[in-house]
Amino acid sequence: MYTTIFYIILWLYVFEFIFSKTLSYLNTLNWSDKLPTELSGIYDAKKYSDSMKYEKVKYSFGTISAVISFFVMYFVLIFGWFGYLYDLISTYTTNEILRPVYFFWIIVLLQTIFSLPFSYYFTFVIEEKFWFNKSTKKLFFMDTIKSLLLSAVFWLWLLSLITWIYLKTGDNFWLYTWIVMTFFSVFMMMFYSSIIVPLFNKQTPLEKWELRESIEKFALRVWFKLDNIFVIDWSKRSSKANAYFSGFGPKKRIVLYDTLIKDLSTDELVWVLAHEIGHYKKKHTIQMLVFSIIQTGLMLYILWLALKVPEISYAMWSSTSSFAVWLVAFGLLYTPISMIFWLLWNILSRKNEYEADQFAWINFNPTDLKNALIKLSRNNLSNLRPHPAYEFFNYSHPTVLKRLNALSEIKK
Ligand SMILES: [Zn+2]
Repeated sequence: MYTTIFYIILWLYVFEFIFSKTLSYLNTLNWSDKLPTELSGIYDAKKYSDSMKYEKVKYSFGTISAVISFFVMYFVLIFGWFGYLYDLISTYTTNEILRPVYFFWIIVLLQTIFSLPFSYYFTFVIEEKFWFNKSTKKLFFMDTIKSLLLSAVFWLWLLSLITWIYLKTGDNFWLYTWIVMTFFSVFMMMFYSSIIVPLFNKQTPLEKWELRESIEKFALRVWFKLDNIFVIDWSKRSSKANAYFSGFGPKKRIVLYDTLIKDLSTDELVWVLAHEIGHYKKKHTIQMLVFSIIQTGLMLYILWLALKVPEISYAMWSSTSSFAVWLVAFGLLYTPISMIFWLLWNILSRKNEYEADQFAWINFNPTDLKNALIKLSRNNLSNLRPHPAYEFFNYSHPTVLKRLNALSEIKK
């Protein structure tokens, strides 16, 4: 029985790799040296050719690192190293809560060490080459260490709690875990900006006077309280610009990258805010939260059904049946369903982007809106023409051309 499960896991893993690499390959078919006609005259040729070069470098790098990671994981699976690791830990401790904690902590640690050279190369060679990187080596390593410690604190705590629930509760395991995870994600959503972000960045309330006045005028018109707009010191890591909306209720806030303030004119910035306020007014954050809660519930229910097959953990070649190893195997078996959710999430997110644009269009100056969109895409060297299949599956935001087209539709 468990050899069959093992082969299913292996084939699913191979399938996912081939699928994602095929999508990336399709993207290369859309490469063109010609600037899209809709943008000629408003998008400079130099920037366009840079964006193509950036795309090509990222593709080669992505392919090489994906192939290496694929084979490493492939060997981990066929040699049964997950099972081996758990057996090894079991000789050191018999504590049922600590075993999974050590197990996952070692996996996270090894995974971080393995991916370090890749992210180092990406930051200090690729991003550097295209003038995006502003990070120092010290900052880079500090970030890595902080992320590791963070995952130790949050995830391992959550994991031991889930293991404890698993050991203590019988049939209602999935329901209790769902409640715990829902609390956890609501908590994270509310306090992400005040607990996690400050560990990496400084956020200051928006002060620039002129900007504040334009924003105040706009915010007053759409009934949005202003105390919640912050500027984040993104420029210490990258020159890329962005903005986002996070939290809800009293904990809602709009965060602008300082790089964005440098790049855009005041009116263009007000557009970015208008777009983010649009996300808030259309209740997108709540909607995405509900989506992820439903997704978690469904996953836990399937997980609970699958728990009736303890052999799943033997498919990782461990000598005993254990919840932690079982979880790893289940995670791999769950891949097709998580791919479907990933797709649905992106579809929903793209729909929300159009809605937020529409809100900004109705409530603010359309010209600034178009200019800001073009400027952002140009400065970040965004891919203007991803392959439709790749875009459909992987893009959380529509491309700039699609967003501009959608805006022209509103005009009619
Ligand atoms: Zn948006």
